[in-house]
Amino acid sequence: MNPKIETLRSLEEFDLILRDIDSEDYQAVGFKGVKASSEFIKTAERERAKLTKKIDPQLLAQYHRIMKRYGGRVVVQVIREFCGGCYVKLPSELAVRCRTEVVACPNCGRFLFYVK
Ligand SMILES: [Zn+2]
Repeated sequence: MNPKIETLRSLEEFDLILRDIDSEDYQAVGFKGVKASSEFIKTAERERAKLTKKIDPQLLAQYHRIMKRYGGRVVVQVIREFCGGCYVKLPSELAVRCRTEVVACPNCGRFLFYVK
């Protein structure tokens, strides 16, 4: 996986963790009354900030746009030649390039990654 894509995926994970901390839905699935310690929250926020510094501003802006539009699943898996975010068939050439490069789905704009 392209290291930039790995960083974006990690950033997404942090964003979802920090969102779940306050979410009632998350508490409803069995974490009711479990509160994240302020130490954890601070650590997660610090690590998240470190990650954002590693990402090109242009990519980061694109990430935020997609996160805002879809509320998550910004970096999605390619399934065979289909986008795992919007399920359209990708051009073969793109499905190959996403194995090594930073590539966005031409339909939904999400970042693509490929797992063997
Ligand atoms: Zn897509």
